[in-house]
Amino acid sequence: MRKIKKILIANRGEIALRILRCCRELGIRTVAVHSSADRDLKHVLLADEAVCIGPAAAPKSYLSMSALISAAEVTQADAIHPGYGFLSENADFAEGVEQSGFIFIGPRPETIRLMGSKTNAKAEMIAAGVPCVPGSEGVLPDDEGKCHDIANAVGYPVLIKAASGGGGRGMHVVRSPDTLIEKIQMARIEAQNAFNDAAVFMEKYLETPRHVEFQVLADGEGHAVHLGERDCSMQRRNQKIVEESPAPGITPEQRAEIGALCVAACKRIGYRGAGTFEFLYENGHFYFIEMNTRIQVEHPVTEMVTGVDLIRQQIQIAAGQGLTLQQDDILFRGHAIECRINAEDPEKFIPSPGKIEKYHAPGGPGVRVDSHVYSGYSVPPHYDSMIGKLIVHGRDRPAALARMKQALSEMVIEGIKCNIPLQQRIMQDKVFASGTHNIHYLEKMLNRSV
Ligand code: ADP
Repeated sequence: MRKIKKILIANRGEIALRILRCCRELGIRTVAVHSSADRDLKHVLLADEAVCIGPAAAPKSYLSMSALISAAEVTQADAIHPGYGFLSENADFAEGVEQSGFIFIGPRPETIRLMGSKTNAKAEMIAAGVPCVPGSEGVLPDDEGKCHDIANAVGYPVLIKAASGGGGRGMHVVRSPDTLIEKIQMARIEAQNAFNDAAVFMEKYLETPRHVEFQVLADGEGHAVHLGERDCSMQRRNQKIVEESPAPGITPEQRAEIGALCVAACKRIGYRGAGTFEFLYENGHFYFIEMNTRIQVEHPVTEMVTGVDLIRQQIQIAAGQGLTLQQDDILFRGHAIECRINAEDPEKFIPSPGKIEKYHAPGGPGVRVDSHVYSGYSVPPHYDSMIGKLIVHGRDRPAALARMKQALSEMVIEGIKCNIPLQQRIMQDKVFASGTHNIHYLEKMLNRSV
């Protein structure tokens, strides 16, 4: 067991602050790294040490492996927490961190690499008995005739996806055979440009699925538990806007069944740390689409219903203290909803960086705000527009919804535009309230006049 006395937080914004708070509770010293545009970040001001790792542009700072590892060397950190986004799912980074003698708070590099390929990940899941979206066996061949045969066997409409894809990019729906080859070629070019890998594969395109994902924790030594599911169907351009746990309408039996399959898959691949199995859910069936080998933005809803601190678990597993939780210890209590708060125009979705003149966070029982912003803080234009998350917990879904409406009405962010009005609209929406929305619903709702 290697003692972790100091953690370098290789991220920014709310997740960096979330990790810092956890470290402080555990008595672990913290190193904040930041770009020259981020000197005023809250966690940078609170950390034991802070290192400027480069200019505002992320490729020269938060994505610079050498800058991050040098900062860990200079500050003599024991471990590096990658957060989400940036280098969190980069196997080369995890490898570089370990080879430089630091603990990477996450899975082994080879696991990240394996799951980073959606086709390999699917093959592993099929072997573990996890249901997947029907589609091509592995990547599509060059032969056009064979591609037509595969599409005919899968059945139109089909979806062409990049094997190394991420962020919803490079996906193409094909509704009839006459556009199949053209769409495959487009997807290959996009995949090559975005991910440096032209390999694409095919899946049945599900018309009205919900996005339901399972949270797991595993010790890398064959012990794993699941922490239930989250519904993240409220999406715009494949970006999640609202998340909740449990997923409306999922029965305890379904949760136990799919959760157990995810645990089996973790054991099969020797998974270590926190992870998420993403599924599409349609007509009572689950279909695995991909695994995220990191902590996720929406992890707080799981924390609120289970009472488990996922960041703390990540750190303890990385320190070799194992996973002391057993499946029977994981109890699900009440309902939690998270609204992402983005610095953007609530109607046109144009980012709105700038100075926050006035900030007031809501409070009261069952209300949690994970945000790094404060009155007088300037949101830089260089990064993601998410400036925080508002999370509520209630005894059931209607109670959580009522609490979220009240909390949103209390939240004040002035000086920049933000999406609180959009979140209020979603919380008032009858379809959302009924829990019957699917991944296309938000776009439909936005196209409707208010
Ligand atoms: P990425 O890694 O690029 O985010 P995912 O495989 O996670 O790609 O898919 C992103 C989103 O695209 C999903 O949340 C879902 O909304 C949609 N999607 C993916 N696969 C399918 C499919 N087979 N049918 C319908 N929609 C899909």
